[in-house]
Amino acid sequence: MQIVKTVKEMHAIALAAKSEGHSISFVPTMGFLHEGHLSLMRKARDAADMLVVSIFVNPSQFVPGEDLDRYPRNMKRDESLCAAEAVDILFCPETEDMYNDNNTVVVDEYELSKQLCGASRPGHFKGVLTVVAKLFNIVQPNIAVFGQKDAQQVRVIEQMVTDLNFPVQIIVIPIVREDDGLAMSSRNTYLSDDERGRALCLYKSLCLAEKLYDGGECDAQVIKGLMRELINSSKGDVDYIEILDMKTFQSASTIQAETLVALAVKYGATRLIDNTILD
Ligand code: AMP
Repeated sequence: MQIVKTVKEMHAIALAAKSEGHSISFVPTMGFLHEGHLSLMRKARDAADMLVVSIFVNPSQFVPGEDLDRYPRNMKRDESLCAAEAVDILFCPETEDMYNDNNTVVVDEYELSKQLCGASRPGHFKGVLTVVAKLFNIVQPNIAVFGQKDAQQVRVIEQMVTDLNFPVQIIVIPIVREDDGLAMSSRNTYLSDDERGRALCLYKSLCLAEKLYDGGECDAQVIKGLMRELINSSKGDVDYIEILDMKTFQSASTIQAETLVALAVKYGATRLIDNTILD
């Protein structure tokens, strides 16, 4: 595995590989890797000739006051995990190399990104889209793999790829969970034992939504209400519980084919997200 630390070198390697006819698959991450990230790598590994993984804690997607400074990092451990997954290139750029003081162009989205996480984290998706567009230009992937865990992120990236004609195929991988159901996340490390126990209610509330729907309940208000009761019982601070059309990301009052149930809840200072698809 080659570790590449500059944008210039990464770009040169990618262009050379493409000119020799090799395909590139790409997994962008913020590091502190877990099984969720590794499942993306395994999918990407089989999808192209060369697998590139990036680790970059992107400052522009953190809203002021968020956890940018304390975001968990462990580069040595991440390097060995990537090597074990047969990653060809691990790209870890410095912030100063990715952004300079003269940056005045960004990528933004005006509809799908404005609700849910976009409402509580204004500017977050602008930061995500801008860095993903930059990374796509630097890494030149044919295929990029993302996790369903960040359902809204996937949807806005797919829209960017369509609207801006990026020649990149997006593959989405299901949510990887701990044995007890908690969705894996680098931020789970912030949770105290007590919060970790209570945070299971995110998964439980999604299971409840699935059970209600399987039992014939199609009224989104009823399902959201019962989910909220469950989260309240765990003393979680609900940011949102939403039931949406997967394509438009508009609230659904009745559940039809391909409906997303998504929620964000805070336990202490830690904000967790999770979702499930009802179909
Ligand atoms: P992050 O490092 O949190 O920015 O995530 C990098 C990629 O891993 C994103 O595409 C995430 O959606 C994906 N990811 C994070 N957690 C999980 C998980 N539990 N299951 C599947 N994919 C995940």
